[in-house]
Amino acid sequence: MNRSSIWDGGDQGRAEPVRVRFAPSPTGFLHVGGARTALFNWLYARKHGGVLVLRIEDTDRARSSEAMVRAILDGLTWLGLDWDEGPIFQSQSMARHQEQGLGLLEQQKAYACFCTPAELDEKRRQAQKVKVAYKYDRTCLRLGDSERAKKVASGAEHCVRFRVPEGVTSYEDGVHGHVSVQNEQMEDFVILRSDRTPTYQLTVVSDDIDMRITHIIRGDDHISNTPKQTLLYDALGKKPPAFAHLPLLLGEDKRKLSKRHGAVAVGDYRERGIRSEAMLNFLALLGWSPADGQEILSREDLTRLFSLKGVGNRGAVFDHKKLEWMNGQYLNRLTPDELWPDVERELRQRGLWREEFTGKERQWFMRWLDLMKPRARTVVSLVDAGTSYLTDEFQYSERAEGKHLKDPEVASRMRSLASALGRLEAYDEEHIEKVLRAEAEKLGVSASRLIHPARIAVTGQEVGPGVFEVLALVGKERTLQRLERLAAHIERRPPASA
Ligand code: GLU
Repeated sequence: MNRSSIWDGGDQGRAEPVRVRFAPSPTGFLHVGGARTALFNWLYARKHGGVLVLRIEDTDRARSSEAMVRAILDGLTWLGLDWDEGPIFQSQSMARHQEQGLGLLEQQKAYACFCTPAELDEKRRQAQKVKVAYKYDRTCLRLGDSERAKKVASGAEHCVRFRVPEGVTSYEDGVHGHVSVQNEQMEDFVILRSDRTPTYQLTVVSDDIDMRITHIIRGDDHISNTPKQTLLYDALGKKPPAFAHLPLLLGEDKRKLSKRHGAVAVGDYRERGIRSEAMLNFLALLGWSPADGQEILSREDLTRLFSLKGVGNRGAVFDHKKLEWMNGQYLNRLTPDELWPDVERELRQRGLWREEFTGKERQWFMRWLDLMKPRARTVVSLVDAGTSYLTDEFQYSERAEGKHLKDPEVASRMRSLASALGRLEAYDEEHIEKVLRAEAEKLGVSASRLIHPARIAVTGQEVGPGVFEVLALVGKERTLQRLERLAAHIERRPPASA
């Protein structure tokens, strides 16, 4: 059975329908890595008409919280990743996990270990000293039956360790191909702690068996768990599912993605104005690419084109600039009506929203949105660039000031332009352009000598949409006020030292 046959529906041995799972631990927000794992499972399930189970791995009670569960569910919902079963809380199956662990103990596929943490620490230190990789030395496996029974009878604390059999463990990874590990490299890992709580290796295998999971798609950080889990399946008499490990996410410096590279929680991107369809598209391309290399892909495109064959095994770089570019592509395709709710939310947060935008200023607001949209990469940057159209409280950008306002003549030019525009009856793009060009000629300067300062006067910025459209949108009265304001600002400025 080769890698593609298991994953592309060609495995004759696996007649049962595809069942995959997303199994986050609610000890933090939904991270981009987790969201990518969820997405690849979702795509795989949808593509193969399978079932996606959502399992919340909340066995670490101290570090799990309800707020994090909610944040994870919200993140998935925002991305439009729906699940078919669950959420199932792992902590509720603890009795079942214990039962399976104790079953392995009874069958002598596991054994009681009485070594204390202090003893184990000491052995670990010794190994470090002589620079050998530490592995549990099986002291307790060598105990005689009567000695072991005596210790148990005396109530000696003990955990339960899985007895790793001799041999080689191998499996076909959906991404990495054939993976093979010598069993002697694995230690006899703990499956039940001394308080009888099950460890991750056991709970995951036990749940995946009970939930009849057929394919496990998860991050590369779990690749070293897979041989151990494969052995547990064998010990429990079950056929292991197919495994695929997705490449690690890297920062732009090619190191493992972490907070030091910027936001890692999906919710932070939502707050920054990234749209869910752009985020989804971007996440899909973290490690996967379609055969034709196309980049802008809708949910439907992704579902149609997705295949594990397109997943590489090299780390995938999380490129923030690309995400913003992609978001801009999506923003641009939206009609003002579609864009409206997000923009309204952002404006409300900044105290810039006015009810008139849905009433008598609706048409104006739509024009504003249309003008801002093509240059925006996020709703946040759209509102940043568009703030000066909505309020008089804005500053002149330093760069703009240094580049276009140095000449003291600008003040009088702005006043001349203001009085020429003030005489205009039809204050529209076409007439504004005519007046501005005529005024430039009258003043004996190129039109750009008026265009740049006028843009700065009205928006505070040196770049933006076409200036005639900008002045028309801002309106005659406010344009005149702002041209005068800039003139006064230049005059107030201390003269440049010679
Ligand atoms: N709960 C684990 C995690 O969040 C996932 C376990 C698994 O996929 O096997 O990393």
